[in-house]
Amino acid sequence: MSITVVGSIAYDAVETPYGERDRMLGGAATHFALAASFFDRVHPVGPVGGDFAESDLEVLRTRGTSTDDVEVVPDGRTFFWRGRYGWDANTRETLDTQLNVFESFEPKLSPQARASDALFLANIQPELQGQVLDAMDRPSFTALDSMNLWIDIARDPLVAVIERVDCLILNDAELRQLTGKPNLIGAAREVLEWGPSMVVSKQGEYGAALITADGFFALPAFPLGTVVDPTGAGDTFAGGFVGYIAQHLADLNDDVLRRAMACGTALASFNVEAFGTGRVARLTGDEIHDRVGSLHAISRFELEPANLAAGALEAHLR
Ligand code: AMP
Repeated sequence: MSITVVGSIAYDAVETPYGERDRMLGGAATHFALAASFFDRVHPVGPVGGDFAESDLEVLRTRGTSTDDVEVVPDGRTFFWRGRYGWDANTRETLDTQLNVFESFEPKLSPQARASDALFLANIQPELQGQVLDAMDRPSFTALDSMNLWIDIARDPLVAVIERVDCLILNDAELRQLTGKPNLIGAAREVLEWGPSMVVSKQGEYGAALITADGFFALPAFPLGTVVDPTGAGDTFAGGFVGYIAQHLADLNDDVLRRAMACGTALASFNVEAFGTGRVARLTGDEIHDRVGSLHAISRFELEPANLAAGALEAHLR
């Protein structure tokens, strides 16, 4: 069993109220792989330039991730992204995006990457996501992420690839933009009609919601006092979510999906505690276990029949 992911492997420059970094390892596929590597062997697919440090390839290899499908283009430059966050961690400004080696990238998957049971099409050009989907043998579970940039400039190819996956993972604002529907549930239901059987709406510091044809589940984000760097939270969430699902493909049901949401939420909360990839690279399974337990504790409530019995709410009116 393994998980294949295509997406950016990047250098990021990030500014937040807690400081700034000029050039650190980032990228959607990187953040996803670091999280998903707790659950299964991960095969990131994507190019890096001659400027990509061997030490960063080592970070990517954390917990057994294979870098066989990371193509080094010696005379190219690695994908670069620069962004800035203000006090509202949910709002970020993209200052620069340089696709670099991704501009001419043609995915060639190893037999191991093609044979994976789970596939995550992280945020990258929709055409590339489609090519990787075409190259796969027969994945049992496929999920896709994207962003406003691709909805703006490549909506048709994006919709075409969404139609072919099991799960769409998007920010709530992007879901509304994609579908032209102002209401989140209405937007998710529209996507369900296109083909996917589930939609995950990411809501930053407010958590994430899962919408299926006959179900809804939501979890708050883990309440942290300080969010140092939100970059990669969505991809880390996806790594936990898809990773847990990949472990339970034989018995995929609503309970599994809910626990997958908890794993994604817990992992994302660690990612934002520090700049870049450092926190998740050093994370332990015990820490994830404890945080999932805390999430369970804060999101449950007791409901005795008498608490909400007919007439109980209006009792004070009598
Ligand atoms: P997230 O915060 O989960 O949305 O992901 C942030 C990561 O996505 C950063 O590490 C960036 O390198 C990467 N990223 C930003 N813009 C793009 C883009 N247009 N295409 C692919 N990856 C991107």
